[in-house]
Amino acid sequence: MSVAMNKIASKPTVLDRIVGPETCEMCGSPGLKTELVRNPFTYGVGSDAVELSADIPVHTCETCAVSFTDEAAENIQHDAVCRHLGVLTPDEIHALRRSHDMTRAAFARLTGFGEATLARWERRDVIQNTSCDRYLRLLLYGANVDRLRALVSDTSPEGPGVVGTRATVRFVHLSVERQRSFRRDTAGWRPRGVAA
Ligand SMILES: [Zn+2]
Repeated sequence: MSVAMNKIASKPTVLDRIVGPETCEMCGSPGLKTELVRNPFTYGVGSDAVELSADIPVHTCETCAVSFTDEAAENIQHDAVCRHLGVLTPDEIHALRRSHDMTRAAFARLTGFGEATLARWERRDVIQNTSCDRYLRLLLYGANVDRLRALVSDTSPEGPGVVGTRATVRFVHLSVERQRSFRRDTAGWRPRGVAA
């Protein structure tokens, strides 16, 4: 997810000197300085744009004369966007799944979410929409997970809809070929009491 920077954002402020990597990734020089910076950034575009803020580590290399951020900063800003949107953060989704002692595959089977989708949420590739987030939040309650487990174990791998349909099946599905031959075979047939 990319976070657009633009002119409406306030200036960043340095909060503290913190421990970071010692050598610059770009030039290999030692003496890299890392600071915790309160960094305002804009989220959204046009009239929907809002200014958010996140405290991120910023590395400065005197040799390169450049300040840069890494994945840690991106992750922190991603979480700030999640909190702004009022949805669970990736770590909270991960913790929710682990609290029920489930692998991603098991959680996918239980919830019906795609395993790849879960991975994208947990890896901060995309943010879940409101309906998915509310579904996830219901699963913060163990009782709801138990209900879901009971529901899923009651059904075949094809799901409850298929089971129900089979139980009440009344009509045989004919292929197009069979329909043609059926019409041919019954061409002269009329419902009882109807004159030809
Ligand atoms: Zn450097």
